[in-house]
Amino acid sequence: MNNLENIIKAINGSNDFVITSHCSPDGDNIGSSLGVYYSLKKLGKNVVYVLDDTIPLNLRFLTKDVNIYNSEDMFNKDYVLIALDCGDKSRLCCKEHIVKNCSKFISIDHHASNDAYGDLNYIDIVASSTCELVYNLLTEMTKELDIDIIDEKIATCLYTGLVTDTGNFSYSNTNPSSFLMAYHLAKVGASRDEIIQNIYQNNSVNYYKLLGEALNTLQIIEKKVSCITLSLDMLKNNNIDFNDVDGITTYTRDIEDVEVGLLFKQKGPNEIKVSFRSKNYVNVSKIAQKFSGGGHIRAAGCTINDTLENAKNMVIKEVLNHI
Ligand code: 5GP
Ligand code: MN
Repeated sequence: MNNLENIIKAINGSNDFVITSHCSPDGDNIGSSLGVYYSLKKLGKNVVYVLDDTIPLNLRFLTKDVNIYNSEDMFNKDYVLIALDCGDKSRLCCKEHIVKNCSKFISIDHHASNDAYGDLNYIDIVASSTCELVYNLLTEMTKELDIDIIDEKIATCLYTGLVTDTGNFSYSNTNPSSFLMAYHLAKVGASRDEIIQNIYQNNSVNYYKLLGEALNTLQIIEKKVSCITLSLDMLKNNNIDFNDVDGITTYTRDIEDVEVGLLFKQKGPNEIKVSFRSKNYVNVSKIAQKFSGGGHIRAAGCTINDTLENAKNMVIKEVLNHI
């Protein structure tokens, strides 16, 4: 029996579930979590969604009808814990007791750096998104149970993660199967206009002011590496939340001759989140792992507990070794 079959068996044989994902939530994280959440509810299961972080403004259209629990308010026991899109156990966005109190731990993920930390794991590192894996899971379950699980709401969640993780079907992780999935979800009635408008066409004016300031920090190093810096003050002065600036990362890579783009985001005086993007040949997941992070070949991240300047120096030096 492969992992997918074991996971379906575990789901069919259980009634209580907790869903979680990684911190700094993005479209794939929330889309895959809610795709599973709504599907399990539809099958009559008890499901609790736990996430100890702020939902980005542009993804709140997905979570507006959902009760999101904080770890501190959740003391159930003996449930199946499903972690979606989380490449690393230490990145789970819930407290330790959530993992300790589960009877079975399932990880569904597409990160190259995932070390199969669950009791059951469905990991496919060439999948476009965790949403695509959830789509495969639900398609299999639909066949086995003979219930049409994927409805408009679930399709909207899964299409969101597919669009955000593939950069609107432009990144190299976009597989032929991703288009088949998009076709099916569109046919089922995914709210494509709502998704695109919320994610890409609803930025605040302050966001654009911050973007202007961010682009002014752009540095090009040896033609091949670029970096943009977002300090705590820049976020504070423009009244923009730390979790609402992920869209700025793409600007670092989309420059002629640049192979690796870096975004340095200051979360605290000595807490720097680094986003890595590459265009053709550098495996940024490997570089991020040197700083206890991870991700994919073309998109990765890490957090460095040091000053902004030290973090930049260390990371740029390491990146130049790979150019
Ligand atoms: P982003 O730069 O958009 O935050 O993340 C890019 C990719 O790297 C995403 O797939 C994300 O989940 C992963 N990633 C970002 N930060 C970390 C981290 O600190 N550790 C690990 N393992 N993966 C990360
Ligand atoms: Mn993902």
